[in-house]
Amino acid sequence: MSLSSLPAPRQLFVTTALPYANAAFHVGHIMEYIQADIWVRFQRMQGHEVHFVCADDAHGAPIMIAAEKAGITPQEFVARIAAGRQQHLDGFHIGFDNWHSTDGEENHALSKDIYRRLRDDAKLITTKTIDQYFDPVKNMFLADRYIKGECPKCAAKDQYGDSCEVCGAVYAPTDLKQPYSALSGAVPVMKSSEHYFFRLSDEKCRDYLRGWALDGKLQPEVANKAREWLEGDTGLGDWDISRDAPYFGIEIPDAPGKYFYVWLDAPIGYLASLKNYFAKTGRDFDAFMADPTTEQYHFIGKDITYFHTLFWPAMLHFSGLKVPNNIFVHGFITVSGEKMSKSRGTGISPLRYLELGMNPEWLRYYIAAKLNAKVEDLDFNPDDFVARVNSDLIGKYINIASRAAGFISKKFAGRLSTAWAVEGDTFLDNLRHAGPEVSALLEAREYGKALRAVIHQADLVNAYVDANKPWELAKDPANEQKLHEVCSRLMEAFRILTIYLKPVMPALAANVEALLNIAPLQWADINTPLPDGHVINPYNHLMTRVEPKMLDALFDAPAEVAADSSTTAAEASTAASSNDIEALAPQIGIDDFAKIDLRIALIVDCEAVEGSDKLLRLSLDVGEGRLRNVFSGIKSAYQPQDLVGKLTVMVANLAPRKMKFGISEGMVLAASAADEKSTPGIYILQPWPGATPGMRIR
Ligand SMILES: [Zn+2]
Repeated sequence: MSLSSLPAPRQLFVTTALPYANAAFHVGHIMEYIQADIWVRFQRMQGHEVHFVCADDAHGAPIMIAAEKAGITPQEFVARIAAGRQQHLDGFHIGFDNWHSTDGEENHALSKDIYRRLRDDAKLITTKTIDQYFDPVKNMFLADRYIKGECPKCAAKDQYGDSCEVCGAVYAPTDLKQPYSALSGAVPVMKSSEHYFFRLSDEKCRDYLRGWALDGKLQPEVANKAREWLEGDTGLGDWDISRDAPYFGIEIPDAPGKYFYVWLDAPIGYLASLKNYFAKTGRDFDAFMADPTTEQYHFIGKDITYFHTLFWPAMLHFSGLKVPNNIFVHGFITVSGEKMSKSRGTGISPLRYLELGMNPEWLRYYIAAKLNAKVEDLDFNPDDFVARVNSDLIGKYINIASRAAGFISKKFAGRLSTAWAVEGDTFLDNLRHAGPEVSALLEAREYGKALRAVIHQADLVNAYVDANKPWELAKDPANEQKLHEVCSRLMEAFRILTIYLKPVMPALAANVEALLNIAPLQWADINTPLPDGHVINPYNHLMTRVEPKMLDALFDAPAEVAADSSTTAAEASTAASSNDIEALAPQIGIDDFAKIDLRIALIVDCEAVEGSDKLLRLSLDVGEGRLRNVFSGIKSAYQPQDLVGKLTVMVANLAPRKMKFGISEGMVLAASAADEKSTPGIYILQPWPGATPGMRIR
């Protein structure tokens, strides 16, 4: 490709979703950042200008309440979470240019500015008075999730304000029977309040969004969703963008005591972080965003599609600002086909991964190998992980350098020879011709297909290795020139493959650049072979294999340990503020836990035990075709008739025990405080709906 045919450099503004600042990153965040980071690195290798930023999503009631519990200000709470971010980002080679907070001054100013434009210029802000539950003790309006009560359908107690976890009914918080505030326990009162709305129901919003969302740029699944929302019978409703004080957020201009709902100012945080970054680097933010050639992209998870394909473009368009060129939506990450669960030991803690000494680029490679441009969940399968890293990455790609570089150093003082390549070289030309395909796939975020194309090329190079067997050639001095040619050609092939893989594995590529003794590789370098006589450095191991037992260690952590390893300062302080819990028992391994056979048991019958003021006698069905007799010291907490027909959890392999009143054939599980006098109460365990007698708990 000649210089004149190169397309003009693009200028790109790229973000990931802003993580909510109430917890450390989980592996889902890391997956999204890796997806975006690969795309950004690829664009930069093309010579494009990319600004890649993120920020903490700092506002909202959950953070306000968590901070209050921890006895610190919301700002302090968010700062503690933010302090743990960089360690993860550096650990996985995620290269944001800037990390900011939606509580930064830029976001306050931008949010107010956008709001004023929507109100004054677009006339899209209106107010309505709505009735809402109010906590008279906390003096605050209660979001649905902070109201609990009895399900209006099945009468289950302690259900949330929007849906019942027992029967699955969905309802309004006002339908709950005997409602109470989950924050204070007080009975909420109905109170009216003026709320501010973004009039998304306005015809001009729908017309604009139809044009923006349905013009073919969105992924087909995302466009279908948008079409449902835009063309459904109910149409778009107005969007409630205000919350009453007390609220941790940005105060609405000319509306004392009213704050922007966190979802209004969160996406504006994309712009605020870029503005903050440009101020540090002396760039003109307004000019950049006003430039029609600037392209804007957001990588997000499927759960926040609604906000990003309706509210966000509408807010930007009607306030006269640039709208996103596209929204790139990905699915969730699962482990061995299931949702991750700390309690089942299937959660992946990103910090634990790093602490185990696992190579971050194994994960980058694996995630890339499984990603496509669809909104599909990505499954982390431990066996597949080991196979792809060890067989493909090490066995096929790294293998090429390890076969050739040593001979170049030992036999030829590190000098490459290309004397044989006067008339070009079909083998290497074919490898270079894969460049446009790989490039098009990376651009389209079809990383899995791109890596398959690269590994296919690596297969061809390995076939060349096998056909020429440098280790055989090296045995006979008469073959010296042939050996030099073969190994030099292999190092050039390795260099080209490294260009293809560099967006995915930047640290590995840097080590290859050091080995090859060259400047950082750009995409265009595919067509610029190393010159004859170029001297490379001695070969050091570039990457080790995954030990399968590392994956056991990644997963076998008991829930508490897994949680600890990813606990941030703020979480730790939250725990410390309630440190009057019983001390934890000594750590055990998964094998110890596996010895305890816990089963779901149906309480078929229950009666008081004559002569005992503590015990109830339970008849339990654990699916064995017989009933078990179990005595349990829960008489102070439960009436026998209240337990009959309920499911609970029992230790099913506990040795039978002779007691005064008979033989007890197991034990039911119940929770209590260490000091039952200061915190009275015994609470037997009940599984979520769907569990049936005999199921094992693991
Ligand atoms: Zn219910």
